Amino acid sequence: MLIDSHSHVNFNAFKEDHDEVIKRALDKNIWLINVGSQYSTSERAVKIAENYPNGVFAAVGLHPIHLEEGMVDEEEAQFKTVQEDFILENYRLLARQSKVVAIGETGLDYYRLDVANRSEKEIKDRQKKVFREQLVLANELNLPLIFHCRGSKENPEDAYKEMLEILSEHKGLKGVIHCFGSTLEIAQKFIDLGFYIGFTGIITFEKAQKLQEVVKNLPLEKILVETDCPYLAPEPYRGKRNEPMYVEFVARKIAEIKGTDFDKVADVTTRNVKELFKI
Ligand SMILES: [Zn+2]
Repeated sequence: MLIDSHSHVNFNAFKEDHDEVIKRALDKNIWLINVGSQYSTSERAVKIAENYPNGVFAAVGLHPIHLEEGMVDEEEAQFKTVQEDFILENYRLLARQSKVVAIGETGLDYYRLDVANRSEKEIKDRQKKVFREQLVLANELNLPLIFHCRGSKENPEDAYKEMLEILSEHKGLKGVIHCFGSTLEIAQKFIDLGFYIGFTGIITFEKAQKLQEVVKNLPLEKILVETDCPYLAPEPYRGKRNEPMYVEFVARKIAEIKGTDFDKVADVTTRNVKELFKI
């Protein structure tokens, strides 16, 4: 058994066939958590989870890139963002639904700070404010968090360091740094604060040697596997639409990097997800 701890079958890429995609995963004994990135996708994650008695869960939150309007156009992802305000009461109502297992994704994203009519400082301050509001909500509802973190092009560690600073002010939070993309030293600091580290199909890419080194040096007991589908399909599906079933290739790569059994990676990472999200 495996659990895809971070998928987006609630996104438009799966509008036509989300039930088939989920069924394919469940048939292989792969469970999944659909993660919201704004109110509409959070609501959809909850609705989809309600259709399944077992194996499908939801997280609700507002992703930092949805605080500004803009275009995301990269090798692995292309979409338009619509500016949204964080309305606490709306997210609180959603988060109280029984299938919701986490608040997220929420966090800091300094990769694109060249937004019209706003200074870098304004954008960062707004991200931090909304991030803190979601930490408070998670604390109030006793839910773990799913963190998104991406540094700037010039200084890729900046957002990670600022996130660590904010998290160390809040005691007793639980969560995972999803799609981790920084150094071993940074990963270790998150682990020291009690958080898990999530890895996607990026670790199967040829250019990802540094990240593979991070995987090699972290204890399996602190690692979660995820797809972040529809983005970041692992090898051998790179460039195609990703889906929860492919989380197996992430787990297989971790087994290869660590020189251990696939079954052990599947068992331990599944246990980690169950412990963190109480599922
Ligand atoms: Zn995501």
